[in-house]
Amino acid sequence: MTNQNVVASDPKSGIGLKITVMLPNSSIFSPAAAAPGRFFSPKKVLKRLETTTDGAGTKINAWVDSMRDSSPTRVKSSASSLSETEEQRSWIARHPSALGKFEEIVKASKGKKIVMFLDYDGTLAPIVSDPDQAFMTNEMREAVRDIARYFPTAIVTGRCRDKVFSFVQLAGLYYAASHGMDIEGPPKKRKYKKGNQGVLFQPASEFLPMIDEVYKTLLEKTKAIPGALVENNKFCLSVHFRCVDEKRWGGLFEQVRLVLNQYPKLKLTQGRKVLEIRPTIKWDKGRALEFLLKALGYANSKNVLPIYIGDDRTDEDAFKVLRDRGQGFGILVSKAPKETNASYSLQEPSEVKDFLRRLVEWKRLCFRPQY
Ligand SMILES: [Mg+2]
Repeated sequence: MTNQNVVASDPKSGIGLKITVMLPNSSIFSPAAAAPGRFFSPKKVLKRLETTTDGAGTKINAWVDSMRDSSPTRVKSSASSLSETEEQRSWIARHPSALGKFEEIVKASKGKKIVMFLDYDGTLAPIVSDPDQAFMTNEMREAVRDIARYFPTAIVTGRCRDKVFSFVQLAGLYYAASHGMDIEGPPKKRKYKKGNQGVLFQPASEFLPMIDEVYKTLLEKTKAIPGALVENNKFCLSVHFRCVDEKRWGGLFEQVRLVLNQYPKLKLTQGRKVLEIRPTIKWDKGRALEFLLKALGYANSKNVLPIYIGDDRTDEDAFKVLRDRGQGFGILVSKAPKETNASYSLQEPSEVKDFLRRLVEWKRLCFRPQY
């Protein structure tokens, strides 16, 4: 019997509740379910526990259910009488549009330095079937380039650094790649050069040989599953199942689980149509955000307003850090109501672009001479 801490959230208040439960065998409860930043309704936690304590078959079913959900977890109506429209209205009231509340956001920044944190997939670029084709538009690139001229800006992503840089192609940014396990600052020289001169922090470097080994094994084990794609993000791995027939999700999860059984120092978490394999070190996008604020000299500053925009469960770690600090704002990119620690919402990457442009325009007006 093992004590297991699970974070659940009250769907009405959005406040996280820590529940300690007794499990007959901790190994049959997925490590991802207890990962910081994952939020389940208390009902869902109990349902999950019932299924996960009933043998390997039901465990796979629980994972497949979870894989079916988009992420973060979609809000379920607490009262059956709530229609979808009412649910949407209630959610928007709690997480209003960052465009609609733009004045409120910039008012909060008075006397403070805005620092921008931007997720990549689903935030700056749309989610597409082939992760290698997740290009951002030139208009979005211009918006990010302009925002970085006025505010320190970091891209925080699960992708590896080389890959995300090949998409963003902007030199004056911080890149917190591989879920923040590979952080690089802007180069000191004006012309961007590849290399290690800008690396600030790599907390999981000892895991590199292990990650590479698991990558090769997973390539072999998943090659018979059509549509499965294993991506090597250097300090972590992604197994994309967006293009896998739903009937084969259980088989894919089982293959991944069997491989990971041999590597207790790696954990499995879940994102949008992707299984993520990461070192078990206590490091995530939230810790990366804290690290970067410290690197910028704002560790204990009251004069900073961090704004983090992201669409995924992994971004919830960063939203939670901002909520716990009582500083700055999380903005969730989502069209559907989701359980989240973000304060505001935007519907899709095009709205992210509009928000960034508006922030640049507001800052330019601040600098314009008054006559
Ligand atoms: Mg994302």
